Amino acid sequence: MTTTDLIDNERASAADPAKQVSTVVAELHSRGIRYAMVSFVDAHGKSKSKVVPVDHLPDAVGGSELFTGAALDGVPQEVSDEEVAAVPDISRYFVLPTRPDMAWFPSTLHYKGSVFEACSRGILQRTMAAAAELGYTFNLGVETEFFVLRRTSDGDLVPLSDADDLAKPCYDSRGLLRNFDFIDELVSAMNDAGFEVYSFDHEDGNGQFETDFGYADAVTTADRLTYFRLMLTEMAHQHGGIATFMPKPFDHQTGSGGHMNMSLADADGKNLFATDSDRRGLGLSELGYQFIAGVLRHAPAICAVVAPTVNSYKRLIRRTNNSGFTWAPIFGCYGGNNRTNMLRIPLAGGRVECRAADSANNPYLAAALMLAAGLEGIRDAADPGAPNMENMYLLSEEELAARGISHLPVSLEAALDAFDADPLTLEVFGADMHASFLELKRAEVDAYNAHVSQWEIDRYLEFF
Ligand code: GLU
Ligand code: MG
Repeated sequence: MTTTDLIDNERASAADPAKQVSTVVAELHSRGIRYAMVSFVDAHGKSKSKVVPVDHLPDAVGGSELFTGAALDGVPQEVSDEEVAAVPDISRYFVLPTRPDMAWFPSTLHYKGSVFEACSRGILQRTMAAAAELGYTFNLGVETEFFVLRRTSDGDLVPLSDADDLAKPCYDSRGLLRNFDFIDELVSAMNDAGFEVYSFDHEDGNGQFETDFGYADAVTTADRLTYFRLMLTEMAHQHGGIATFMPKPFDHQTGSGGHMNMSLADADGKNLFATDSDRRGLGLSELGYQFIAGVLRHAPAICAVVAPTVNSYKRLIRRTNNSGFTWAPIFGCYGGNNRTNMLRIPLAGGRVECRAADSANNPYLAAALMLAAGLEGIRDAADPGAPNMENMYLLSEEELAARGISHLPVSLEAALDAFDADPLTLEVFGADMHASFLELKRAEVDAYNAHVSQWEIDRYLEFF
């Protein structure tokens, strides 16, 4: 299946495209929905949109909603270029709980009648098409960790609930109960949108939560995640709060991961990573191990995309001050049900979890690069070696070297250098998006490096 086929399928999975759109329009009217938000993402994975009254949805499907890419981060266009058109995927939409007359539609960008090469969603769709040619569907589930905060009159950031103040809040029942009204509202909204939430909890930081929902093909999951971030931040805003996906908002609290749970399925939906006869005893097929080997081979470059902010690297450390270890990876290694590895094979097997990913990435780009790396491992029948089963945080440099395990990049700057040096990134992103991503992110590093922080003043001002 080619990318164009995939997009044609989205535009109209039925034989009669016009009928399909009119069915959706009728459905929107019957639900009292007045507006369609035609949304696509910038390089950060943020929703950007125009809104059309629902009767104009057919025009949008025909490419009426035009955008000047030059105005956005990572939509590589000159200001003089013809606009890009956001073509909504009418097979799915989500109704915003904060604005129940508004349906949000994910879109793929088009340029001069074809898919825009640098569109994040298009990049994932074409990587998925390459996998489909080999007979694979890439399935993805992302664990969403985030903080829900508010600002005090002094400008300090504190948990939305004053009562969320336990010293060890991880999995704490009281912490969850004291925020339950808000979390219940969130989970209900997720389920109304068809997310099939199966678990949620209070995480390791005060004001930090995780909501887990069913996996799906990677495009669907990336659409959901993009919408989830918009929906949650709007809900928190309505409550006078701030929901943040910043990877590490507080020095002494754990960061927010966005762990990516990955597997390949065949055309019948059979999970090709699951097996009862894993010689390593972890319930993962040879195909799964080859996928792991491919991802590990490209781990430093992958970090630039799955952990794409300067702040991300403050999460990818061994310890926080108030709760011991971070549970975030620092080495490019894999293991069984062991959270100290970058790649974990959870208890039941049948999937691989990337723990380096945070909650602030562009999920389309993250999924595309991860899939391409995994497919390379499969193509080469690569072997990831033995799984690491012990606490990796405690391994000495000598032991790591003996196992051929490297540190993950310690900064965005280092990760971007790895991204730049890895030819796979160019292949996956295409020349324009590759250059645009690097330029955008290097500018972020430069701005950060030019900033003198309070920590430096406190440490050095009168030190010498
Ligand atoms: N919050 C941790 C992280 O930053 C992960 C905790 C967990 O495994 O749930 O990745
Ligand atoms: Mg968690």
